[in-house]
Amino acid sequence: MQKVAVVTGGCRGIGLATTELFLEMGWRVVMVDRDGPELRAAAAQLENVLPVEADVSIPEQVDRMVAEALAGFGRIDALVNNAGVALFSRAEGTRFEDWREVMETNLDGVFLCTQAAAGALAETRGAVVNIASISGLRASTLRVAYGTSKAGVIHMTKQFAVELGERGIRVNCVAPGPVRTKLAAAVHAPEIISAYYDAIPLNRYGEAREIAEAICFLCSEKASFITGQTLAVDGGFDAAGVGLPALRRDAAVAAD
Ligand code: NAD
Repeated sequence: MQKVAVVTGGCRGIGLATTELFLEMGWRVVMVDRDGPELRAAAAQLENVLPVEADVSIPEQVDRMVAEALAGFGRIDALVNNAGVALFSRAEGTRFEDWREVMETNLDGVFLCTQAAAGALAETRGAVVNIASISGLRASTLRVAYGTSKAGVIHMTKQFAVELGERGIRVNCVAPGPVRTKLAAAVHAPEIISAYYDAIPLNRYGEAREIAEAICFLCSEKASFITGQTLAVDGGFDAAGVGLPALRRDAAVAAD
């Protein structure tokens, strides 16, 4: 039986790379996005996909999305809660409507989609993978809403893993470091990009495909005894402490 993944935010960036990798693995994919034109354009390039236009933060649209997924493909083996928005602003100046906009997609969306798909996932003993961020593991400037939402996603992963484990469903989380996507381009100026390079031991941004590899692994049978975990896919960003760039430069000089 061909397996089915539901990927939210599936029409570009990490979600599209994940969709493409599932297809290479022989799965069918329900691509979910609120950006109808971009969703239809991306889906038109692919086979074995079902595009569903829906906003993950609206309960009625989430219920319709799961119903359309089941009507179209008959089963759900994996749910990837990838849809996310990033708004960076200083804590004191963050407007309440911006705070709510981030929470609605990043936190409410993960909650609603997981709840709505749980029944179908129980039938297949399937898996959920939530996409958090390095910003949910480490605090940084300008991320009071984004970082807090992603820390919530990391904890929500454990909450769902504990309860859904009883129904055979695994729930894990991937926390990407900076990845070159439209989302990152919108919030990372050139000087921020070079500062990131300094702080990341592997000295570069990640590629969407590298995040997809971790997501698809956690959805697969290869991860059959892993649940409730957060895997940072970040070039070592989470492992590194203060002073790393200077130390690295000293070491490079010493090695010359
Ligand atoms: P992106 O902006 O390129 O794509 C996100 C997609 O989600 C878009 O197609 C958008 O239309 C869709 N979307 C947003 N809100 C939605 C909603 N409410 N309902 C349905 N669809 C919605 O983003 P990306 O860079 O590919 O990021 C994907 C995920 O990875 C996000 O959760 C993001 O927070 C996380 N992440 C990204 C980076 C990075 O550097 N790019 C780093 C860490 C974590």
